[in-house]
Amino acid sequence: MNSEDLFERAQAVIPGGVNSPVRSFGSVGGTPVFMERGSGSKMYSADGDEYIDFCCSWGPLVLGHAHPRVVDAICRSAEKGTSFGANTEAEVELAELICNQIPYAEMVRLMSSGTEAVMTALRLARGYTGRSKIIKFDGCYHGHSDCLLVSAGSGLLTSGNPTSAGVTRAITDDVLVAPYNNLAAVEQLVSEHGDSIAAIIVEPIAGNMGLVMPDEGFLEGLRTICDKNSSLLLFDEVITGFRLGVTTYGTICGVTPDLTTLGKIIGGGMPIGAVTGKTEIMKSLAPLGNVYQAGTLSGNPVAVAAGLATLRELIETDPYPAMEKLALNISCEINRHAENVGAEMHCATKGSMFTTFFTKNQITNLDEAKTCDTKAHSAFFHKMLENGVYLPPSQFEVCFVSAAHNEQDIKMLINAKYS
Ligand code: PMP
Repeated sequence: MNSEDLFERAQAVIPGGVNSPVRSFGSVGGTPVFMERGSGSKMYSADGDEYIDFCCSWGPLVLGHAHPRVVDAICRSAEKGTSFGANTEAEVELAELICNQIPYAEMVRLMSSGTEAVMTALRLARGYTGRSKIIKFDGCYHGHSDCLLVSAGSGLLTSGNPTSAGVTRAITDDVLVAPYNNLAAVEQLVSEHGDSIAAIIVEPIAGNMGLVMPDEGFLEGLRTICDKNSSLLLFDEVITGFRLGVTTYGTICGVTPDLTTLGKIIGGGMPIGAVTGKTEIMKSLAPLGNVYQAGTLSGNPVAVAAGLATLRELIETDPYPAMEKLALNISCEINRHAENVGAEMHCATKGSMFTTFFTKNQITNLDEAKTCDTKAHSAFFHKMLENGVYLPPSQFEVCFVSAAHNEQDIKMLINAKYS
């Protein structure tokens, strides 16, 4: 069956034919491609087409598809049993490894998704501080737990719907929203609600309105505000954790958050999420403390094995400079092309991440991201797809280069835009 047939079948039994909305191609149009298998930098569809993959499962596949070391770890682990509902040594190893790589990580709690990690971190922040409100930033996406579906990015932004039905006012009343990179707005909110603000949550590099870097001093400013107000600073590094080096962006940029959420890469393509931070705060989690969190499959041995194999491979091979070089090459070529033909577009990049924005202007927040020509992006997306290059199907996402990509793959993308 080809993608067309499969999508029709899927729509009869799965809402919208997809298990996560952005996969539906809703913002770019057309039929979503069904994938059969992946290997290295490539994915192969049910239609028999080959794609160079720059979506990389939305970030986890930093080593590319079906990396032999990761697959081997998964198989070995699965052979010993897929879940015990009891402790395993591998969970301790992964927690130790994370603590070794992140100077301010003292304890780690594993769970099964980034959404769960953020939900837990916010409950922990509220439980620890005894306060109710949080500040988030417009355009940052932190998963789909109720209180975070407030002017959130990712799939919601893509479908032009800033909130979700089914989320009650009572829940979102406790969430204050500021524009990204706007410290004055945060100061204003803190001056009005200071005593009740448990935490400020931020993507230290935003990845859910396209790639948007923090302005110089923004993260430092948030740290200072939190210190003055006795609020916790929470870095959501579900995308950026282990993406720019074998650590967090907080470590790299030198701003220490109180809590960090991780996911994606630390599970090597298997479902995972994690909260980490200082022992003083982490010990508020049950069973030590009174902030409840649990999970049947939390710290699942197969996911942990995939994560350990991925992190060890990253530590041993350090593919970051090579990945960065390829991403830089892509952005330079796209920007040169834009200049040559006078196209209203530019490519932003950081490490192995990049986004082609369909505007000439630099993007620093959601309002600016929304000025992009999404029709032009859709045309670009489909042109890439026709030329065997798979990008995330939305303007407001980050593309990823993996350790499996090479110069030839990059040329495919660069050449596709001229064809
Ligand atoms: N936080 C960020 C920054 C994310 O990008 C995402 C998902 N893309 C999440 C949290 C939620 O993670 P998950 O999809 O694993 O629930």
